[in-house]
Amino acid sequence: MSAPYEVLLYYKYVRLDDPKAYAKEHQELCTRLGLRGRILIAEEGINGTVSGRAENCREYREILDADSLTEDIAWKIDEEEGHVFPKLSIKVREEVVSLDLGEKDFHPSELTATHLNPAEWRKAMEDDDVVILDARNDYEWEIGRFEGAILPDVPSFRDLPKWVRDHRKELEGKKILTYCTGGIRCEKFSGFLLNEGFEDVYQLDGGIMTYGKDEAVKGEGYEGECYVFDERLSVPVNRTEGAKIISSCRQCGQPSIRYRNCAWMPCNAQFLLCEDCENATGRYCAKVCKEVDLMSHAAVTGI
Ligand SMILES: [Zn+2]
Ligand SMILES: [Zn+2]
Repeated sequence: MSAPYEVLLYYKYVRLDDPKAYAKEHQELCTRLGLRGRILIAEEGINGTVSGRAENCREYREILDADSLTEDIAWKIDEEEGHVFPKLSIKVREEVVSLDLGEKDFHPSELTATHLNPAEWRKAMEDDDVVILDARNDYEWEIGRFEGAILPDVPSFRDLPKWVRDHRKELEGKKILTYCTGGIRCEKFSGFLLNEGFEDVYQLDGGIMTYGKDEAVKGEGYEGECYVFDERLSVPVNRTEGAKIISSCRQCGQPSIRYRNCAWMPCNAQFLLCEDCENATGRYCAKVCKEVDLMSHAAVTGI
């Protein structure tokens, strides 16, 4: 028996002449199918992640596959017991993925690096003189990544170009492998690397999500779990015996991949907290947050 719901992750770089009209149409389609999730639409394409009843997700996939604009999408499909999003949000943006390149901007359908399938990627990881670049954010990296990968220390994706230019010497002459969750960020980032004159650049086709589903590779070489932008927060990748958790609870240091937001509202920081610690001391990222929060409650109640 297959699960009653699906979670879809997908993107397509394609020229959309009228993103607003396309978004309106899409809103009607998703509403009719009862889908929830987040979809970004721009002149350069579409990027989405949605959940819905399996038969509705199937219909959604068939409709997009049959449309010449969105054919050939490499769908990442997870089976689930229910929705993983509270609602549907479709937004029109300037770009679906931005590197802030201004005049030097390009379209990934015209320039992007060679795609490696999971088996090719696993093999390439072992090559000499390889640099594996993680194109995601620090909170994604913290709970899971490829062995030996580097996380550029930048505040956001759009700051990667500066990092690359600052680290040109260390990257030159190396084989560069890039990866992200589903592949969309690397389509852009790897194209940027080629534009900057790096020649030996590759990207993981379909990202970590596809890698984790490959039956031959079984997620080998990946440590921890993969952060996802829905209520699940993370999904397993490595299904080999070597699988391990690399992140730990901020309070007790035990292995944990459990993200929570600090209960003191003005802080609200996302941090790792195991269930035991949450039960014992509350959902606070730091002692000071707990103290301030309890004090503000005391002030309100006059204790
Ligand atoms: Zn703990
Ligand atoms: Zn806090």
